[in-house]
Amino acid sequence: MSNKINLLILSFALRPVAGKSHFGSSNCLPYFCVMNSLTEENYLKALFSLADDKGEVGVNELSKRLEIKMPTVNSMMKKLAEKKLVHYESYKPLRLTEKGRKEAGLIIRKHRLTEMFLVEKMGFGWEEVHEIAEQIEHIQSAAFFDKMDVLLGYPKVDPHGSPIPDKSGKLVWRNYQKLSNCKVGDTITLAAVIESSTEFLTYLNGRELRLGIKIKIKAIEPFDGSMTVSYGKNTSVVLSSTVTERLLGEML
Ligand SMILES: [Zn+2]
Repeated sequence: MSNKINLLILSFALRPVAGKSHFGSSNCLPYFCVMNSLTEENYLKALFSLADDKGEVGVNELSKRLEIKMPTVNSMMKKLAEKKLVHYESYKPLRLTEKGRKEAGLIIRKHRLTEMFLVEKMGFGWEEVHEIAEQIEHIQSAAFFDKMDVLLGYPKVDPHGSPIPDKSGKLVWRNYQKLSNCKVGDTITLAAVIESSTEFLTYLNGRELRLGIKIKIKAIEPFDGSMTVSYGKNTSVVLSSTVTERLLGEML
């Protein structure tokens, strides 16, 4: 987070709050409540995205993803368990509770709606929006995001093709296929990208690879799995497996 935003939150949070607390809790200093809730939200999001088929995440894995040391992760998990957001037992994998999953889904909803808004209404490129959405997703007002939803016409996916959870935080996954799993002769419509880093999306921009295009697989190199493909006006483009593993599509 930039210092500017940090200061903004600080100056807002330290203003004396008369009567009803802005932060829904009266027994802690507003400043710490805000910072905590922001950190908690990032933990919830990471738990949601790292969950395996059984909904489980190793503490180790979480610690690696967030680049936070294990003891800190463990003490945060105890805190989230007290709030009934996470099932937490020593030496066992972590699991979000129903409440935790819902809250994580709602944060992801805010993130993805924001990305869509930035692209559709403000003219940002899909490679520019992730970092901005990381900041905006922590705004608490539901009305703010509901309005965004209305202005966008209730989109089902974000600019990277990822599904937007509904108002109850529920997320429906589409059955897409990785380009890397396709065979020679297959044609797929590019529907989503797994990674939304600026570097990766800028790479795709440079090769005119965007959602909705039809990609035909012409050849696969057995040695490293790189693919020769054609799409649009491009008749022969070689994509490495690092790229094809990050592209999802619907088989035609
Ligand atoms: Zn994003």
